[in-house]
Amino acid sequence: MLYVDGKWCEAVSGRTFDVHNPATGEVLGSVADGDGSDARAAIEAAGRAFAPWAAATAYERSAVLADAHRLMLERQEELARLMTSEQGKPLRMARTEVGYAADFLLWFSEEAKRVYGETIPSARSDQRFVVLRQPVGVAAAITPWNYPISMITRKVAPAVAAGCTIVLKPAEQTPLCAVETFRLFEDAGVPPGVVNLVTASDPVPIGDEMLTNPVVRKITFTGSTDVGRQIAARAAQAMKRVSLELGGHAPFLVLSDADPEHAAKGAVLVKFLNTGQACICPNRIFVHRSIADEFTAVLRERIEKLRPGNGLTDGVTVGPLIDNAALDKMAAHVEDAVDRGASLVCGGKRIPGTGCFWEPTLLTDVTPEMRIYREETFGPIAPVVTFDDDDQAIAMANDTNYGLASYVYTRDLSRAVRTAEALQFGMVGINDINPTSAAVPFGGIKDSGLGREGARQGLDEYLDTKVCGIAL
Ligand code: NAP
Repeated sequence: MLYVDGKWCEAVSGRTFDVHNPATGEVLGSVADGDGSDARAAIEAAGRAFAPWAAATAYERSAVLADAHRLMLERQEELARLMTSEQGKPLRMARTEVGYAADFLLWFSEEAKRVYGETIPSARSDQRFVVLRQPVGVAAAITPWNYPISMITRKVAPAVAAGCTIVLKPAEQTPLCAVETFRLFEDAGVPPGVVNLVTASDPVPIGDEMLTNPVVRKITFTGSTDVGRQIAARAAQAMKRVSLELGGHAPFLVLSDADPEHAAKGAVLVKFLNTGQACICPNRIFVHRSIADEFTAVLRERIEKLRPGNGLTDGVTVGPLIDNAALDKMAAHVEDAVDRGASLVCGGKRIPGTGCFWEPTLLTDVTPEMRIYREETFGPIAPVVTFDDDDQAIAMANDTNYGLASYVYTRDLSRAVRTAEALQFGMVGINDINPTSAAVPFGGIKDSGLGREGARQGLDEYLDTKVCGIAL
């Protein structure tokens, strides 16, 4: 079903598409297969709803988001079960994601009341300057499958808080999570037309409508760098504002004075997070030669303890990959690395049977010539590279077009600060694998995107600045 102007409806074409469980291959359900005309109807509804929503008080907008937050926590278990079935992550991690998704609703319900303007002194005694912050207008959002609920609230909550209206297209692999999230917005009392959902199997006509319809003033996209680049180029033609949360290639630096065991524990937790399908997962693990053996031994031991399987089964710690194309990429990255001299310490193969499972994998002796050193793997493969001094490690870490997350492990505060300052990334975890929260700005530099989500900066993405010069 599509959610347009406060009503659930079929696609204009009447078409639907099936949604599959990546752990079992079973069909979970089907949803409306929207196209350009459905996107147009949703954008028009958002356009009509904009003026009254922008005129609502900050307190009214805040209250709706607070209700949505409460409902999301009440429905945490059912949303988490749906997420595990549709996207694959183990149930415990799905519960955590629903909690993280709810955090954005609460955070932006609070921030809605803090859209502060400014007064600025004038050089003229008979003039005053007042700076207003106003909603940009109708926003269009496109989200990925890997975090199928939190990537929605991270966009919808600040848009609604700012007074924007929004049309969202979720990933084709996870539309059911999007439908349940929008039911919750409806139940929280979000007025008709303020939030609209268009599910689709082909993103192109929806994207085309979003990029060409003059009613849309802002595009917010989370997904791959290739698609983000195309969206940015086309948005520029129509001078629409853009925010892009794109791919990453996170380095994980373990300096010579780090505790190798603690660092290895952290590396496994964040590398295999969501089966390696998170934009902040490390893709190159750099360890100082003097502690490489000890670090790698702990890494191996912990990787071998991971339990891949259906995320609804107790004790499973790693879910399936999203589809067969992802399995093909794992095979290609491992084969290329081994051909070029990497050592396969454990894993390295598809797990036989139904479902898209890949053995948690450890590669050592990884070098810059290998594909895995350059391309986002987006899967459960940990590549280890050894280095000899901090400057070399920092140079290697920065030798990528991406700039999203990065990590450094050291017991020396000065080295930690110097390294964090030298890393060309939007986020740095210092002896920490989770430098994220609804309260802090999430985002990257270079090919990892433009703009920030979460925090007060996340609200700025949906606000324009207007100055009023007042003659007295
Ligand atoms: P993707 O292929 O770029 O898809 C993301 C979204 O864009 C989906 O909704 C997709 O629709 C849509 N899309 C694809 N082609 C489009 C087009 N030509 N026009 C308009 N929309 C289009 O990315 P993905 O592989 O699903 O997601 C994984 C990527 O997202 C990784 O690179 C990851 O690092 C990145 N990511 C970044 C962040 C962050 O915050 N920086 C967070 C999560 C993920 P369909 O599903 O219908 O194809």
